[in-house]
Amino acid sequence: MAIATTNPATGEVLKTFDALTDAEIDTKLQAAADAFRTLRRTSFAERAGWMRAAADILDAEQDVIGAMMTTEMGKTLASARAESAKCAKACRFYADSAERFLADEPVEAAAVNADNAYGTYQPLGPVLAIMPWNFPLWQAMRFAAPALMAGNVGLLKHASNVPQTALFMQDLFDRAGFPSGSFQTLLIGSAQVEKVLADERVAAATLTGSEGAGRAVAEAAGRNLKKTVLELGGSDPFVVMPSADIEKAAKVATTARCQNNGQSCIAAKRFIVHADVYDAFATAFVQNMSELVIGDPMDENTDVGPLATEQGRDDVAAQVRDAVDKGGKVLCGGEPIDKPGWWYPPTVVAELSTDMEMYAEEVFGPVAGLYRVNSYDEAIEIANGTKFGLGSNAWTTDPDEQQAFARDLEAGAVFINGMTTSFNELPFGGIKNSGYGRELSEHGIREFCNLKAVWIG
Ligand code: NDP
Repeated sequence: MAIATTNPATGEVLKTFDALTDAEIDTKLQAAADAFRTLRRTSFAERAGWMRAAADILDAEQDVIGAMMTTEMGKTLASARAESAKCAKACRFYADSAERFLADEPVEAAAVNADNAYGTYQPLGPVLAIMPWNFPLWQAMRFAAPALMAGNVGLLKHASNVPQTALFMQDLFDRAGFPSGSFQTLLIGSAQVEKVLADERVAAATLTGSEGAGRAVAEAAGRNLKKTVLELGGSDPFVVMPSADIEKAAKVATTARCQNNGQSCIAAKRFIVHADVYDAFATAFVQNMSELVIGDPMDENTDVGPLATEQGRDDVAAQVRDAVDKGGKVLCGGEPIDKPGWWYPPTVVAELSTDMEMYAEEVFGPVAGLYRVNSYDEAIEIANGTKFGLGSNAWTTDPDEQQAFARDLEAGAVFINGMTTSFNELPFGGIKNSGYGRELSEHGIREFCNLKAVWIG
């Protein structure tokens, strides 16, 4: 994919960028190695000061940053501004918490025949972050804030369609005061990733994106014995049981499916509804989905903007067509919108069967699959009948059922009576083909640390 800003609302190419040459990459990797020697010896307090300055810049420049993201990938301006605010919050969270999260872990010295013994968390070095376009600032910040606070150095290979947001990230940390080279953006294509990963100056890698990209990076990292964290796709279930508040569930379901124009890894994608409340839920849900305002993402009244890329729009359209060809029933939407740019309307498809692509694969657009079930066990069977295991949702007011869902849903997160969301305080990540490792919370910051045993006799 060319490295370029293309407005998905119009299809117009606004700015193109050249990929770095091998010599330019080498210069940046050396700068990263040099920066690590400095950064690893700075104190938590120094790093926290720079991180808080980054948060202040994000808040002060929210309108400009928001417009940049909306232009590059089509999310609504309101959600882009909110994303910038969320990033500022993450910066402050890790500025406040990193020292506590990475505090030494003492052991009983006598038990190991020492005067003093403890585990200590130390940074690993430059970490390569391969990031997607869907939350162009947040996905990168979710890596950057804990990594820098731990004393690691960041190298960002962002998705090729968000180069301006990528360059902004480097500029942000430079302006915030971090030592030069602490966080650098590499404008490179995906074919150049393997060579960077193999370089001995790169210590580890993290990737958020598709299964295919995850496999490619994990294979390359494995050959080089480098640690990876992978946050891949999801096909999150959203189960509605008879005791649920149906009106609220249908409202949250609409937001959960269509947030970010339907392009979120933790969007609810499969709506699994008990037969006793199926008709009531389906009616309310389809009505809510039909009422969403589709339009210019810069317009404050817009709920759903375009999909980020032409390929993404074509993939979604093909998945729906496949379902219809095999007997699926479209309850609203169902056809791409014919105008410049890459538009697809909120869509609900019912009567799905296991041979449909929509059943097995992630749908990265505002398209919901609706399933009718007759029991808790059947709901669990369909919810878990996927290769993915990222987030999950269940709606029930029965306390026993709530605990049962928390136990039985195969996922990295379970949200009961609410929408799956990432919080700084909670671990974030998946199981099965949704990847491995955790971001956010104290677990995220420890992923790229060397937990060193110290024994003093
Ligand atoms: P990709 O997984 O292709 O892109 C994500 C990042 O990985 C980009 O920086 C991309 O770079 C890079 N990348 C892609 N292939 C490789 C490779 N072989 N080696 C190294 N890096 C690579 O996502 P797409 O944008 O193509 O979206 C396709 C699907 O992925 C979506 O439909 C969705 O299912 C899933 N996805 C999931 C996301 C999530 O949040 N979990 C986010 C985005 C997508 P480049 O842009 O240069 O290709």
